Amino acid sequence: MTLMSTAQLEQFENLRVDLHSHTKCSDGGLTPQELIERAVTFQIDVLAITDHDTVAAIDIANEYILEKNSPIKLISGIEVSTAWQGFEIHIVGLNVDHKHPALAQLISNQQQAREDRALAMGDKLSKCGFDGVYDQAKALAGEGSITRAHFARIIQQQANLSNLQAAFDKYIGKGKRAFVKPNWCSIEEAVAAIHQAGGSAVMAHPIRYDMTAKWLRRLIVQFKQANGDGLEVVLPQMNNEQRRVMLNYCLEYDLHASMGSDFHFPSKWSDLGRNLRMPETAKPIWELWN
Ligand code: AMP
Ligand code: MN
Ligand code: MN
Ligand code: MN
Repeated sequence: MTLMSTAQLEQFENLRVDLHSHTKCSDGGLTPQELIERAVTFQIDVLAITDHDTVAAIDIANEYILEKNSPIKLISGIEVSTAWQGFEIHIVGLNVDHKHPALAQLISNQQQAREDRALAMGDKLSKCGFDGVYDQAKALAGEGSITRAHFARIIQQQANLSNLQAAFDKYIGKGKRAFVKPNWCSIEEAVAAIHQAGGSAVMAHPIRYDMTAKWLRRLIVQFKQANGDGLEVVLPQMNNEQRRVMLNYCLEYDLHASMGSDFHFPSKWSDLGRNLRMPETAKPIWELWN
């Protein structure tokens, strides 16, 4: 899909770009309109909304940008949960035709998997002594994608836990008492649907999968074989050494580089666009968009 002229692409270098963010349409804290407002306040020029297994925010955000004449370029995106060798790997689709039927089919399957897992998680949590967690998590998610982040908030309240992390550590994290293995699509299926929808497929936050260097290399090889386009090499939390290692994987496997904050809600640790800078030797993912 032609999105930007070469001149616009060259300009990209000087723009503030954030290619990974969430809204209330999944587990973010802001509505799409509030997210756009915050991006304008933070002087972000290019923002991708990448909610978990949904593109529901895209039309809402675009309408708002038009209405307010906001100085922001919105990239239509999605973050697809996939299953690989017992790990949950997130694949970000960028610059997609968010109404493409292939993507719609993938989203519909993923939403079913989310619903099935949520119901099963609710059952397991009942057996752990919790009451009505599914109903409350569902109410919290509203029309949006139901995620473990919603469950974690309810568990935190009911069990009086000091933070959300504790809900994952005790109940819904991998292998814990109320964990339910989700039925996500494969990496290949996610990449294929993103490509059919004209987008670029980027492996989200490679540093966060809690795997050894050997497994991470295997994952990157598999992603490349699945026709993946790029890696997120720049996240606010990454130190220089991690950025260097990820950049080297990009160069070694001829992958493009993406960067994003993975913004969910305002916090003192991270915000839109903060601490993001594309390394000079990287091939930015947006080079694929002319
Ligand atoms: P799901 O896609 O439904 O499995 O939900 C995963 C979401 O929960 C992630 O995108 C994070 O926003 C959040 N999450 C995952 N693990 C943790 C954790 N250990 N602590 C806090 N939030 C988490
Ligand atoms: Mn999330
Ligand atoms: Mn993710
Ligand atoms: Mn994310």
